[in-house]
Amino acid sequence: MAQSGIKIMKRVEDIKKSRYGRISNKRKFNEELHFSLGESYRKINFLLNKKSNGKSSPTAAINNMSNGKRNSFNVGDMVWAKTGKYPVWPGIVITDPETNKFSKNENMVPMLHIYYCNDAYKRNWIKLKQITKFSGKEEILNEIPKITTQISRSKLKVKWNQAVEEAEYLAAMDKDQRISSFFANKFLASNSSLINKAESESSTEQKTPSKQSAMLENNFNVNQQIESNHNEQTLLNNDSKDHPRHLIPELCRQFYANGWVTGTGGGISIKYNDHIFIAPSGVQKERIQPDDLFVQNLKGEDIMGPNAEKKLSKSQCTPIFMCSYNERNAGAVIHVHSKDVVKLCLLNPENELRITGLEMIKGIFNEKTGKFYDNDEELIIPIIENSKYEKDLVDTFKIALKKYPSTSAVLVRNHGMYVWGSNWKTAKTQLECYEYLFQITIFKKIHNV
Ligand SMILES: [Zn+2]
Repeated sequence: MAQSGIKIMKRVEDIKKSRYGRISNKRKFNEELHFSLGESYRKINFLLNKKSNGKSSPTAAINNMSNGKRNSFNVGDMVWAKTGKYPVWPGIVITDPETNKFSKNENMVPMLHIYYCNDAYKRNWIKLKQITKFSGKEEILNEIPKITTQISRSKLKVKWNQAVEEAEYLAAMDKDQRISSFFANKFLASNSSLINKAESESSTEQKTPSKQSAMLENNFNVNQQIESNHNEQTLLNNDSKDHPRHLIPELCRQFYANGWVTGTGGGISIKYNDHIFIAPSGVQKERIQPDDLFVQNLKGEDIMGPNAEKKLSKSQCTPIFMCSYNERNAGAVIHVHSKDVVKLCLLNPENELRITGLEMIKGIFNEKTGKFYDNDEELIIPIIENSKYEKDLVDTFKIALKKYPSTSAVLVRNHGMYVWGSNWKTAKTQLECYEYLFQITIFKKIHNV
């Protein structure tokens, strides 16, 4: 079955290649699910149907959801979810902190918001057809033998087994207890906290045969655990002064003091290795803490977020930040609600701003030539019109990037500015140079000099 599935996938890819000239990852992903999971999921559902003695089954649940009835899965339900190349992974249906919803329809496709077990609080929206009710480890391995191959790498095997153990431990609880236990046990760290627990429990003479210790003891190898969580630790590390968890709060305090991010306005994002760190939305920027940040990858998939109890949501500027990363290979992007930008746009109704003859132009990087400007060159910065929501600026922002390949900033009329650089230092110094240039340009315009 698995082999024939692979063959079919290859044929579909060939067809797609010849028709479009390239393979669409999204379609490939869906087809992979269809071929690799469809049969297995039918089997699981059949198995669970038999077990459920006539109670509502996953198949019924899925059908119900498809019919628009969303009562079959609810907050706190344990599920198996399939995403990307990962093996089927256990998780819990929990409300999305950004939208406050746990289910939605996207393009008529029903989806649920899932937090994954033993995965540093990773979460995302998953299509309902990729989700089924949670069953035990033995059942899932019987029904999807492919998992054994998928977790053959030792690191993934340890992580998957711990995820399932945690899920089994959580599944035995009532829903309220389950959710609070999920967050209490492993926020930001299946990692260090579990390692510490394991170490302290193993040194305790009287081991309680609790479900919690069962979760920890099987196949537990501290060294492997540390290695497999290397990525997460990198994301959490705030020892280095150059780590975004340290830099973003510090820069926000500086920008606040300059009057650029007052009244919760503005935002900042820094790329660190392959991860994008993003400040939360609608908060007092001078009070942001290292663990308030959101982390996602370059595809925009969430990797880590602040404790759900903080009820924070990711910066509204995120779609614009991602444009700068993807279209301009930025290393950091800053958004300020600067009064001088607003004043300048009032004095300059054109769709671009031209500045010449000032020394500080030398601090601005020309993205087209790959060099900083000379002071005798003309600096041209695009101005786009404001919109009701920050995310609605994306289209005009993209057009401005195309039309002005030299620019490292875009002004938004009556609103503020986005500025980026290859790293946080050049983003910051350019922001300072732009602000300086804007103040002088305002003076020149007002006094007609
Ligand atoms: Zn804004």
